[in-house]
Amino acid sequence: MKPYGDCIYCGGEVRERSERVDYRFHGQLFILENVPTGVCNQCGEKYFTAEIAKQMEDAVRCIEAPVSTIAVPVIRIPGHDTVCAGQDSA
Ligand SMILES: [Zn+2]
Repeated sequence: MKPYGDCIYCGGEVRERSERVDYRFHGQLFILENVPTGVCNQCGEKYFTAEIAKQMEDAVRCIEAPVSTIAVPVIRIPGHDTVCAGQDSA
């Protein structure tokens, strides 16, 4: 029994992997580790079973202590006139 079926975008085969997943809940971003995720082997689209989706929601709803906290940069894509000067490697 295939829990995911084929990719709805490209028809590729979707296989389950343990993934790190970005998850937004009430405007806050969480990163969930070791999530069983169906990943398309052609386009990389991710799928979750209803059970896993529920578990992810429960995990962020009942969060007590995160494993770790990281800072996430929020950026905008550059306009056409913007030239990337690169970053100084001090
Ligand atoms: Zn696909």
